[in-house]
Amino acid sequence: MRKIVFGLVILCGVVSGVQAEELVASTSPAKNLIWIVADGMGPELMGFFMEGARSGAMRDYKKDVAAMEHLINDGEQGLFFNNTQGTIVTDSAAAATQMATGKWSLPGRIGIDYQGNPVENLLELAKKKGKAIGIISDAYVTDATPAGFTAHVQNRRDKTEIARQQLALAPEVILGGGKKYFSDGENENLLAQAAEQGYQIVFDKKSLLKARQGRLLGLFADKGMPMAVEMHAHPKTPSLVQMAQKALDLLAQDEDGFVLMVEAGKLDWAAHANDAGATLAELKELDKVIDAAQAFAKQHPGTFIYLNADHDTGLGSFVYQNLDNSGAAHKTRQGEVLYKGNVFYGNFDTYAKLEKQRRSLYYLQQEWEKLPAEKLTPSFIQKQLSKALGYPVDMSEFENVSDVPGIFKQLNTQYGLAWATQTHSAAVLIGVAYGPGQEKFKGVYHNTEILPKLKTVLGFHEESYD
Ligand SMILES: [Zn+2]
Repeated sequence: MRKIVFGLVILCGVVSGVQAEELVASTSPAKNLIWIVADGMGPELMGFFMEGARSGAMRDYKKDVAAMEHLINDGEQGLFFNNTQGTIVTDSAAAATQMATGKWSLPGRIGIDYQGNPVENLLELAKKKGKAIGIISDAYVTDATPAGFTAHVQNRRDKTEIARQQLALAPEVILGGGKKYFSDGENENLLAQAAEQGYQIVFDKKSLLKARQGRLLGLFADKGMPMAVEMHAHPKTPSLVQMAQKALDLLAQDEDGFVLMVEAGKLDWAAHANDAGATLAELKELDKVIDAAQAFAKQHPGTFIYLNADHDTGLGSFVYQNLDNSGAAHKTRQGEVLYKGNVFYGNFDTYAKLEKQRRSLYYLQQEWEKLPAEKLTPSFIQKQLSKALGYPVDMSEFENVSDVPGIFKQLNTQYGLAWATQTHSAAVLIGVAYGPGQEKFKGVYHNTEILPKLKTVLGFHEESYD
C-alpha cells in the first residue's frame, strides 16, 4: 500500500497528507456502512425538497443547499428499479428484503425469497464478519423496512415474531418506536430478556442521550414515533437525527467497524396522506441525518454512506394549473407582478408556508372523524385547519367544505401540488453512494444488485448463504 501512495505522490507532484490518506482509503474496503433508507422517497420528492432548499424560501436553508444535495455532489448516483419477482409495484417488505438480502421476493415477505426460503441479510452477514450492527426507524423497529434487515417471516404483520427475531440477532443498537411489540401479549417478557442479554433499555430522549457504551435498545413510542411535523409537542421524544447520532457514537467504538441501517420511515406515511407540509418536515429531518452521516464519514475515513428509497409514495409534484380567471396577476409576496394570465406555475413562497405546518393532516382528519357531524361547521374547520397549518388558510373558494379529504385535495391545489396516488408508484429511484468504491453505484441497476455492490465495498467477498 505504501508503494501506491509513493507512486501517486511522484505522479501528482504535490499531494498533501490528507489527500494521500484518502487515496489509500479509496483502495481499501470500507470499514463502516451507514445505509439510510428514506421510505417512500421517489425522485420527485428529492427534487421537491432540494428545490425548496435551493430557493432560499425555507428557514434552515437560507445560506446553503440541502445536505442531500451535498451528498449527491460529493458521491456517485445511479437509478434503480425495485420490482419484485412477480409485481411491478412493491411494498416496503419486499423492497427491504430485496435490498438487504439481494434475493428476489414478493410483497409482504420479510427476509424470505419469492420461493418461500429464508435468505441471509446484510446485518447477519456483517455480524458474522465481526462488525457491530444497528437498526433505527422513526416508525417502529418491527416495521417492514428494519424487519427486512433483521428478520425472516412470511408476513410483515407478524410483528411479535419480528421483535423476537430481532433480539435473537442482537444488534448492538436498536432504536425507534414499537415498544408494544416488545412488551405485549406473548412478548410480555421480551424486555426482561433484552436486559438479560445486556441491553441498556431506554424510553426517552434524556436516557438515550446519556447512554455511553454497550448494547442499546431504545423504544420511544408504543407504535410509530411522532410525525416530524408534530415533534414540537413531544419534548421527551428523540428525533431521528438524535437517534442516528447516538447510534454512530456507540457503533464507532467497535474496532471492526459497523453496519447501521437508518430508516426515515414516516416520510412514507406523510406521502400516503398526500400531506405536503408533513412530507416536507420528514424530508428536513432526513436531511439532518444525511448531514450527520456525512460529517461522521469525514471524521472517520473508510465510512461508506448509501442513501436510497425502498419505493416511491404518492408521486407528488408541483404542476402548473389552468385558472378560470384569465386576468389573474401572479405576484411576489412584496406585491410585484411576476406574470399575468390564466396559468399558475407555482410559487416558492409555498415552501415557507409548508414549513409553518404544526400538525399531521392525517391525524387531524382522524380527530375530526371522531366528532359529531354538527361540530364540523365551515368556521370550525377553517379555524382548526389554520391552527394546524400555522397560517390563516383561505378557504373562500373551496367547494364542499364538509368533505374533509376534499378540503385537503383543494389545499394541495392551492399550493400548486398534485399527487398521483395515495399508494406506492413504480417510479425509478435514485441511489446515492458516498465513500470508497462509490463508483460501483453508477448507472442503472435493480435493488437486488445493491447488496452485491455493498459486499464488494465492505470487502465481504465470499458468498456465505446458509
Ligand atoms: Zn408505504
